[in-house]
Amino acid sequence: MFGLLFGLLVRLPMFEKPLGVVFALGLIFASLVSAGCGTKAPDTKRSEKLVVVASIAPLAMLAREVVGDAAEVHQLVQGADPHHYAPSVNDRLTIEGAPLVVWMGPALESVLARQMALVSAERQLALLDDTSQFEFDGSDPTDPHLWLRPRNASAIAARIAARLSTLDPQQAEGYRQRARDFSRAMANLQKVQDRALWAYKDVPIVSTHKAYSQFFGPAGVAVESLSGGSKQAHGARTMVDKIRREEVSGPAGCLFGEVPANDRDRQTASHLNLGYQALDPLGSTLPQDAGYRALMEKLLADARRCLSTIPDKSARPLRPVSGLDGATVSWAPAPTRFPDSAPVVFR
Ligand SMILES: [Zn+2]
Repeated sequence: MFGLLFGLLVRLPMFEKPLGVVFALGLIFASLVSAGCGTKAPDTKRSEKLVVVASIAPLAMLAREVVGDAAEVHQLVQGADPHHYAPSVNDRLTIEGAPLVVWMGPALESVLARQMALVSAERQLALLDDTSQFEFDGSDPTDPHLWLRPRNASAIAARIAARLSTLDPQQAEGYRQRARDFSRAMANLQKVQDRALWAYKDVPIVSTHKAYSQFFGPAGVAVESLSGGSKQAHGARTMVDKIRREEVSGPAGCLFGEVPANDRDRQTASHLNLGYQALDPLGSTLPQDAGYRALMEKLLADARRCLSTIPDKSARPLRPVSGLDGATVSWAPAPTRFPDSAPVVFR
């Protein structure tokens, strides 16, 4: 902007200088007004850049990894629960005008799905439509929070890069290169995360919402969810009864809810003899410009706040195992096959 101001003063010799300054100040004021209001509405007139719309913050983070400076990313769901988010009139206009809308799909954003049904297939990327490139080892296949596994995050970035390369061929090489760099970084982050969580593979973990199986699963850590009806609740209760029979003193495991921390979840945890920690799978407590790595590091640090308080019960012969439908819990000896990335300890 100051370049523009300087240019105006230099290039308008027909104005008396004071008039030139007034004119330029008017322009500054106009640009401040149009840039205000806190929202970053797509402004395709000013920048020639492509504007990608992403539904939730983690997808906006992944899109930003791919676009670098070559395009803009607009995040749709701000501070709302994506499972119940309904687009406002403004959001609907944004969706209608966007060359590409990246979202998970009806299994996660069930209300947004009604609006997305009106958007042509070329202008949307519903990531859950094709799950062939995602990993589900150790996780619940019906858990739609796929971005919580860094290797799946890199698969998401690759798909965004492929779509953008078609839409914006001039920048295609940049999109692909950044997605490849991100994929390498995520392979490392996955190892770090799995190694850290593997240490807690014998700690019983219960979540209030079927959201964390992609986070804990790759490390061989089973999660029992309380959501999804009476079967799940029964499964968790069976597990907790088992813990009680072991006469553990102090919390026997961890209950992970969602931010903000609340008394209802705290009470559930206390009834089940579990420690309690709220997690933030959407990064809603992070700064606006936080990246995907920050999201995952915060999640790991928060999870460890509870996990590290549970006494080491590595002698525990049995551990809970969820069925494929997440409903049943059986007890099985701790696995002898270690995840590839976990440290193998010889005793
Ligand atoms: Zn969720």
